Amino acid sequence: MSSASFPSIIVNADNPGIERTARVIANGGLVAFPTETVYGLGANARDDRAVAQIFEAKNRPRFNPLIVHVPTMEDARRLAEFDDRAEEIANAFWPGPLSIVLPRRADAGLSFLVSAGLNTIALRVPDSELARELLTVAQCPIAAPSANRSGEVSPTTAEHVAQSLPEPGDKGPSLILDGGPCSVGLESTVVDLSEPMASLLRPGGITREDLACHLGTLVVADSDDTAPRSPGMMTRHYAPATPLRINATTAEPGEALLGFGDNANDAIYNLSPDGNLTEAAANLFAMLRDLDNGTHAGIAVAPIPKHGLGQAINDRLKRAAKKE
Ligand code: AMP
Ligand code: MG
Repeated sequence: MSSASFPSIIVNADNPGIERTARVIANGGLVAFPTETVYGLGANARDDRAVAQIFEAKNRPRFNPLIVHVPTMEDARRLAEFDDRAEEIANAFWPGPLSIVLPRRADAGLSFLVSAGLNTIALRVPDSELARELLTVAQCPIAAPSANRSGEVSPTTAEHVAQSLPEPGDKGPSLILDGGPCSVGLESTVVDLSEPMASLLRPGGITREDLACHLGTLVVADSDDTAPRSPGMMTRHYAPATPLRINATTAEPGEALLGFGDNANDAIYNLSPDGNLTEAAANLFAMLRDLDNGTHAGIAVAPIPKHGLGQAINDRLKRAAKKE
């Protein structure tokens, strides 16, 4: 079956199809691929620019941290710190529809955009054999949120993906690997084990009771960003410790200027000298973290255009400036 409107980008999940998909990822491109939960919009999780394209394709107004997919437990251990709880939960439910938030290893080599600047990372080993095969052939961890435009329902077939996302050349994935309908059809459960008290960030196929059997107590976090936060949710968004000032054209004494475009001569870093928003998004968290090193009295950030990815960049900067 292929979509009438996008026949050329739906690719059969045979060996050549999987290899072609892996090549796009290795070259920094975007693909859609099936897992047992829903279709994911995938990119190399080590590549800031590739990850920025995910947010662009989904037209997400915010930088939420993304789930990083790996083919095996050994691969997961290279990216995050596993304590006894994490080992037990991973052994019980991986491969499967459970994402585990853990402290990032310092040597993980992952994009900071993938974690939205946080020191944690959400990992999953999918149960879908096709997804694991793609991950093995691609030889890199794949960051993948659901392959739909922001605000639409998650896709469970290749045709849904084609209907929801822009075409290749218009910020959409280069291809969609067609593995048929997803068996679970519901997003993964997300459990946060990065703090002493385990918390359920998103309900899913693996239930709270399933997890509680292994974890004992489990806090159910309110994942609605507009609701009052439960303790432990405060760290879900990265904000620099150094005071941040937005829409700045020059630095005040003691401030470090983070520039954008060509009008930022005295900037320590420039998010994108060419004024490219994809490049700016790719650089945002790594540059903020570098500047947030305790040596500057403040960080002044140049004005960022409000269209496209500029929306998500401005959202993050505004909230960091407000010290949410
Ligand atoms: P989606 O983008 O639809 O796959 O959803 C990913 C879910 O995992 C969202 O609810 C994220 O907030 C959550 N998530 C991913 N990474 C992290 C992280 N490092 N810390 C907290 N939550 C995370
Ligand atoms: Mg989604």
